[in-house]
Amino acid sequence: IFSGIKEAIKKFLSSTSPYEQSVEEFIRELQRILIKSDVNVKVVFEFTSKIRKRALEEKPPQGVSRRDWFIKIVYEELISLLGGEEELNVLPKKKPYVIMLVGVQGSGKTTTAAKLAWYYKNRGYRVGLIAADTFRAGAYEQLKQLAEKVGVEFWGDKGLNDPAEISRKGLEYHLSKKAEIIIIDTAGRHGYGEESKLIDEMKAIADAVKPDEVILVLDASIGQKAYDLAKKFHEATPIGSIIITKLDGTAKGGGAISAIAATGAKVKFVGTGEKVDEIEPFRPKNFASRILGMGDIEAILERVYSTMSQNELEEMADSLMSGNLNMKLIYKQIKQIRSMGPIGKILRMIPGLSMSLPEDEGALKVSEKKMDMWLNIINSMTYEEMEKPELLEREKSRIRRIAIGAGVAQEDVRELLNYYNYIKKLLKQLKRRKSLLKKFGGAD
Ligand code: GDP
Ligand code: MG
Repeated sequence: IFSGIKEAIKKFLSSTSPYEQSVEEFIRELQRILIKSDVNVKVVFEFTSKIRKRALEEKPPQGVSRRDWFIKIVYEELISLLGGEEELNVLPKKKPYVIMLVGVQGSGKTTTAAKLAWYYKNRGYRVGLIAADTFRAGAYEQLKQLAEKVGVEFWGDKGLNDPAEISRKGLEYHLSKKAEIIIIDTAGRHGYGEESKLIDEMKAIADAVKPDEVILVLDASIGQKAYDLAKKFHEATPIGSIIITKLDGTAKGGGAISAIAATGAKVKFVGTGEKVDEIEPFRPKNFASRILGMGDIEAILERVYSTMSQNELEEMADSLMSGNLNMKLIYKQIKQIRSMGPIGKILRMIPGLSMSLPEDEGALKVSEKKMDMWLNIINSMTYEEMEKPELLEREKSRIRRIAIGAGVAQEDVRELLNYYNYIKKLLKQLKRRKSLLKKFGGAD
């Protein structure tokens, strides 16, 4: 799947056909690849029609080519298909935290229980495992051995055969040992195609132990079937998430993940091998990059994003140049600085003006701490004062009032005022220079 998509991107970028035609060709290829790797057909068509719509409607910002912009669209839509920008928080929201694993036999529940124990133990949590699989002979020993390997507490009772009772007793045991995360491994005696039975069993155990989270463990190689199971599961449990196992061994992994993500269920971890440390939190962004071949598209994305911030910088320079400088503008500028760089950089964006700026940007540099303080000070001004900071010079009592309001010294207010005056002077010079240059046909 991955190499197929990478190939399609290469073809798209080097194609000499008209843009619209290349987009169609790419989309057809993408559909073919996704359907072949078992992604649900409906999902595929929704996904590709979103891409097509954006590709034909969006106008790339100045300086960005349509083909580069198209790659950015594919990248963003893929991330969104896989679950969005946001990463799931994999750390427990409370302590103790009870996790119950469900899934059909062989999907990797027992292995995943041990992997989770390893993962959380290494992040400083005290973890306890419970063997509640009374169905499979050897399930008890399997988990016990894994628990020893990882070095966490284990509880099981081969004399009992009610999973709910085992889970209840196990909980009691681990709570007495001050466990912070308790993981219950269950049987899942049903095969694929028996989703409803699996969900019923899951509900019965969940009723007995009231877990904080139920995790559905899915084998990546099942591809298409994952969609139905994940969908039912997502509808049945509001506290559910999904772990995909065996992502190492199958080409259909990408398909399974896209299918599952498309159900709205959240993929939390992926398993990438048989060993206890072969587990990682699922990161849609990383996964999207892997599918598209990050090395290949990285340069394109970088080009697009840097052009965009360049455009933003220019817009800001324009608004500084055209508007009347006041504290509101300074406020906005300080807010934007964190992501875009100092005002000196912005002013330099104005064509033909860079020579008027001081070599040394010291006077233009403001520390993070100071920026926070200044935002605070501006917030303590009246609207009138923000519009006309000159008022502060005329009536010194204003400075005192603002300083008290912002909880700072009067010198701090005066320092901001100096900064404001400095920028104002600078802008005045720049404007004069710009009109001079215009006159002699030098600028722009
Ligand atoms: P359960 O029946 O759901 O408890 O499944 P198990 O945990 O017993 O796992 C079934 C098989 O899958 C075992 O042989 C595991 O070693 C293997 N397995 C589990 N997770 C992974 C994984 O992420 N990658 C690979 N390659 N094998 C896995
Ligand atoms: Mg098992």
